[in-house]
Amino acid sequence: MPTETEVLKRISANLDFDPFELRKKYYFERDRRVKKEGSEQYAEVAEELSKYEDEDPFVEEVIERAPFDIDTDVAIIGGGFSGMMTAARLSERGITDFRIIEAGSDFGGTWYWNRYPGAQCDVDSYCYLPLLEETNYMPKEKYSFAPEIFDHAKRIARHFDLYDRGVFQTRVTEVRWDEANQYWLVSTNRNDVIRARFVVQGTGPMSRPKLPGIPGIEEFEGCSFHTCRWDYDYTGGDHNGNMSGLADKRVAIIGTGATAVQCIPYLGESAGQLYVFQRTPSSVDLRGNKPTDEAWYKSQEPGWQRRRRENFSTLILGGMVEEDLVNDGWTDIVRRMGNALMARDPADGAIEMVEILLMAEVKDFEKMNEIRARVDSIVEESETAEKLKPWYRQFCKRPTFNDLYLPTFNRSNVELVDTVETQGVERITKKGIVANGKEYEVDCIIFATGFEATSSPNRRVDFDTIGRGEKSLYDHWGEGFRTLHGIASHGFPNWFTIGINQNALSPNFVEMFDDLALHVAYIISEVRKNGNSIVEVSEDAEEAWVKEVIATSNVMRNDFLADCTPGFYNEEGQKFNLQNLPYGPGINAFNQLLKAWRDEGALKGLDQR
Ligand code: NDP
Repeated sequence: MPTETEVLKRISANLDFDPFELRKKYYFERDRRVKKEGSEQYAEVAEELSKYEDEDPFVEEVIERAPFDIDTDVAIIGGGFSGMMTAARLSERGITDFRIIEAGSDFGGTWYWNRYPGAQCDVDSYCYLPLLEETNYMPKEKYSFAPEIFDHAKRIARHFDLYDRGVFQTRVTEVRWDEANQYWLVSTNRNDVIRARFVVQGTGPMSRPKLPGIPGIEEFEGCSFHTCRWDYDYTGGDHNGNMSGLADKRVAIIGTGATAVQCIPYLGESAGQLYVFQRTPSSVDLRGNKPTDEAWYKSQEPGWQRRRRENFSTLILGGMVEEDLVNDGWTDIVRRMGNALMARDPADGAIEMVEILLMAEVKDFEKMNEIRARVDSIVEESETAEKLKPWYRQFCKRPTFNDLYLPTFNRSNVELVDTVETQGVERITKKGIVANGKEYEVDCIIFATGFEATSSPNRRVDFDTIGRGEKSLYDHWGEGFRTLHGIASHGFPNWFTIGINQNALSPNFVEMFDDLALHVAYIISEVRKNGNSIVEVSEDAEEAWVKEVIATSNVMRNDFLADCTPGFYNEEGQKFNLQNLPYGPGINAFNQLLKAWRDEGALKGLDQR
């Protein structure tokens, strides 16, 4: 049996690069980025930092109302796509007595809050936008911009008649099980009392912004905001840029992830001076957006959206399909793999898993060499180009696709400040930002520093959920998530959540939430049909699912991420808790598992009374 080194030497014999050298470079870059604080390096947007989350710059009219004192069948927390899809699926099953409690002034969730210039869906909109067939809507382009997606959220709300049941500008402060009365008591910041038979939490995995935990962050005296609360009153302009308020301003943006890549081109165009503070460069591939071909769209057969999503997810997980329906940069490496396998010399014998993995690594090196060459071909100043090159595998971080980002660094008013040597910006002062020992005085700081996506569960949501026996959900999850199928936990009757833990994971979050919403609506409807009022995951079923998640945890994916540059995908480079990972076999397998569970009709693992 040849060793791994021998196989890699054989399959890379004709390449114009040395994969062993690239590996070394990737490890070097990874190691110098890992911060010992892990996820703790970030500051929670609480206390003096709460303005970065609490202030809603998009309110048109503040709702004045007396506190509610109401009973409802289902309290849905969150009016983003997961809450809306739950409401839609409940409505389809004839359950219409629900309330949707939402901090914003409208539906849309992510797309209500994230209105930064250039915001765009980074996966194919025909896969991403939910309920396209139900609402008979054709996205304008292959990758929709934020205003269109926000409009689509409003379309769904009108289609399913959700507005009357929306409780807007209202934040949940606590969810508490009342054992004597067998309902949930949902409290809010408006002193509402909402008694609900069922609760569905759809607060989104990326609804809470996070900030770098650097000294001085609260001292800055200029304007500052997070990208998910864009202050157009200060910047002027709108989603298309034209931010005239920045013409004479020195602006800093911290972060160069998926969000920053989309808004930096517009800042570069508008700001008097723009400083881009980078710690790790993003992989920036071609976008190549295009208008929807109406004839093609109209020719799609019913059920097309599910088929398209499943096709995309199969490829993302490294599987093979007859036709790549989405056919974009997300699935490029898999296409290359397919071609390499077809071209493989049969004389090399039967292929082993080790060779498949090494082939994937080599295809990844090729892809990332092209991404790095793209930087050289666009960015004129070689020192800046060098700093913009990502040295990691394409899916270590969310890959980005953008045609305006790299040319922005050719502008004379834009300066890239690389902070890798100090593992990020050092401090913030009254007047600006200190990096590499130098103070950059600025008028405005924009934090494009991401969200509490994989931090501890009680940081991702800003209220507690207290179940039977006064037990906090976060104590129940203290050692790691404990659920059945990621949606419900023992000790929390009639409570469901739609999220990203212990269930399927896909870069297309909406696809995950769609099937989970359908599943939760099914359970609630079945329990009522059975004449019961309480449903709760049994202790055994919960324990069995925790074990299943650990047992099926995808070792290849874990090994892959462990070698990656740090970020929220890999717990900032720290050791994973296997219990918190997604279901290893992937989203299509998970959705099939849920479907088979529903088809059985026994609500297996759930106690009803
Ligand atoms: P990310 O968490 O991906 O990026 C945060 C950025 O802040 C990184 O560049 C990070 O650097 C940087 N940063 C953090 N701390 C410091 C520091 N102390 N000094 C300097 N830089 C720092 O957040 P995003 O908002 O960009 O993206 C989050 C997610 O949102 C995406 O992964 C994606 O899921 C989603 N998204 C989806 C879009 C869509 O179209 N569907 C569009 C945009 C975002 P480092 O990398 O070194 O940690």
